Amino acid sequence: MSTLAYIGLGANLGDARQTIEAAINTLCESSGILTLRQAPLYSSDPVDAQGPVFINTVVAVDTTLEPLPLLDLLQTIEQEHGRERPYRNAPRTLDLDLLLYGTLTIETPRLSVPHPRMHQRAFVLRPLQDLAPALHLSQGSFSALLADCRDQKLQRLVD
Ligand code: ADP
Ligand code: MG
Repeated sequence: MSTLAYIGLGANLGDARQTIEAAINTLCESSGILTLRQAPLYSSDPVDAQGPVFINTVVAVDTTLEPLPLLDLLQTIEQEHGRERPYRNAPRTLDLDLLLYGTLTIETPRLSVPHPRMHQRAFVLRPLQDLAPALHLSQGSFSALLADCRDQKLQRLVD
């Protein structure tokens, strides 16, 4: 038995694009990750964060990992690929968020799924829509949610 999960990735320091691609490769090769599909890359202006533009994307994985072991894996990858911190409390190099885990709702201190802020972020919604246009989000349709965050600058990167 495996579960279809969606993971949001963002990076904004150093070679952010290279960091995202390396993190996706590591994820892809991790045990418990059976298949991986990647949305296109986007660049976005920081929301609730400082620093240069972010590079973002979303991946869909088929996984045999339960939600908490999957979060552990994501946090290990953040550590491995996200060490660069030019000063104290600097924005993180790499952020991996578990957006959706099948149709499960999880509310624990370590893990909230669906990710509580995903529906307010164009840099999550757009690549998620690219990957899964028919996906039904409990907070509304892609078009309605994206209309609510049209102020957020987002650019699709060329391959
Ligand atoms: P954010 O992604 O909200 O900017 P962090 O990446 O620093 O912030 O995450 C802080 C904490 O959020 C983590 O320690 C993790 O336990 C918790 N968390 C809760 N729900 C999720 C989720 N769906 N995906 C990733 N982390 C989550
Ligand atoms: Mg996070």
